[in-house]
Amino acid sequence: TAMQLKDTALFRQQAYIDGAWLDADSGQTISVNNPATGEILGTVPKMGAAETRRAIDAAERALPAWRDLTAKERSQKLRRWFELLMENQDDLGRLMTLEQGKPLAEAKGEIAYAASFIEWFAEEAKRIYGDTIPGHQKDKRILVIKQPIGVTAAITPWNFPAAMITRKAGPALAAGCTMVIKPASQTPFSALAMVELAERAGIPKGVLSVVTGSAGDIGNELTANPKVRKISFTGSTEVGAKLMEQCAPGIKKVSLELGGNAPFIVFDDADLDEAVKGAMQSKYRNAGQTCVCVNRIYVQDGVYDAFAEKFQAAVAKLRVGNGLEEGTDIGPLIDDRAAAKVREHIEDAVAQGARLVAGGQAHQMGGSYFEPTVLVDVPDSAKVAKEETFGPLAPLFRFKDEAEAISKANDTEFGLASYFYARDLGRVFRVAEALEYGMVGINTGLISTEVAPFGGVKSSGLGREGSKYGIEDYLEIKYLCMGI
Ligand code: ADP
Repeated sequence: TAMQLKDTALFRQQAYIDGAWLDADSGQTISVNNPATGEILGTVPKMGAAETRRAIDAAERALPAWRDLTAKERSQKLRRWFELLMENQDDLGRLMTLEQGKPLAEAKGEIAYAASFIEWFAEEAKRIYGDTIPGHQKDKRILVIKQPIGVTAAITPWNFPAAMITRKAGPALAAGCTMVIKPASQTPFSALAMVELAERAGIPKGVLSVVTGSAGDIGNELTANPKVRKISFTGSTEVGAKLMEQCAPGIKKVSLELGGNAPFIVFDDADLDEAVKGAMQSKYRNAGQTCVCVNRIYVQDGVYDAFAEKFQAAVAKLRVGNGLEEGTDIGPLIDDRAAAKVREHIEDAVAQGARLVAGGQAHQMGGSYFEPTVLVDVPDSAKVAKEETFGPLAPLFRFKDEAEAISKANDTEFGLASYFYARDLGRVFRVAEALEYGMVGINTGLISTEVAPFGGVKSSGLGREGSKYGIEDYLEIKYLCMGI
């Protein structure tokens, strides 16, 4: 088969609920295809509300024992899971490339990134500190303790099939919560392989379940069920808003990591070669399908032509192909709908006067492959200036001064990642503080790491993932007032 895994038991075609591998009650399945070839890789159960309810009940039953382990005991199990993820990096990477399409080197890189969250939160599990506060009266003592929220749920997207799961499951389990995960239907095999390894690491049954199937039915149950105390979602702003609305009646906590529309600003005083390198990394990683991918490139007048030329030269070197082949920089997009959106943004910009200087077409490989594309002299009114493209399209805009760059960069409902290149120290601080974004890359195009807080402002979401802040989203603060 196409799988060719060293450990064939990592390829699971059943859901994992309460420590058991199960089919849907209805017997129905969803097929999962390889976007590089269109070939069907296998199927997963098409589950709905009933199976989700069972996973939630199991998570509730598993909660007291998991919560009551010492932090060190939970930490050791997570550490073991981290080690198993790394030991199986080749298989997990291959599985991911097959179902998601990203180049193998990127897929293996994502496994290391995904595993790093489990390692990090295994360490943080032991550092959930409370507080003592000087009392407000002579005979009062005040303590603050932190406790796990309880049963939690995660709904995750297809662009990072492994890391978006561990970034949620890591802090949840470290804090003493249990979790039900609904992975994206395009990429469920990565989730199932990881939970197989969690089981081998000794994570008890019910603590972590994976339910595959209908997003609407599973999402409805996760949001409506009062036993679930928190939902963490990564995906589109549209679905995020809907989930938040569904969580409102039950006053359920939500963490949302939603869409972005990242600006990348190149000032006159930037190191242009470094800026090109950063823009390439941030724009074309995962074929442009990340929520922190550069969406709009703003270049100051004085260096616009020089930057455009260097950038175009770098784009000309990119190799499009099957992610399993050595040397591939850009794999296929996840599906035809994704390719259609890129085409729509290109056509709209060109109709408004932008010039196409690279790519612009579906790639000759066919399917959902798309050429890396560069547009110059893009007007601010173009769709690509407002909406997230989620594909390999780089539009270059021109600006005159700092104020104009900041105002254009902030002119969006989104506020996830932003980037700029400059060397003047005063400018670096002014611009960094003025950008209305949760994250700012300064003279770098790569910002993701488990040690730093990832998240957005405005319509890009609520909460932070990773870092010492990431675990707070899974903890409740309890205040103890003691008379003595
Ligand atoms: P994308 O456009 O990146 O696929 P989505 O927001 O559509 O992002 O999907 C992200 C995740 O949300 C996926 O796991 C998907 O199955 C799930 N999802 C989509 N629609 C709903 C919904 N109505 N309720 C719950 N989950 C949903």
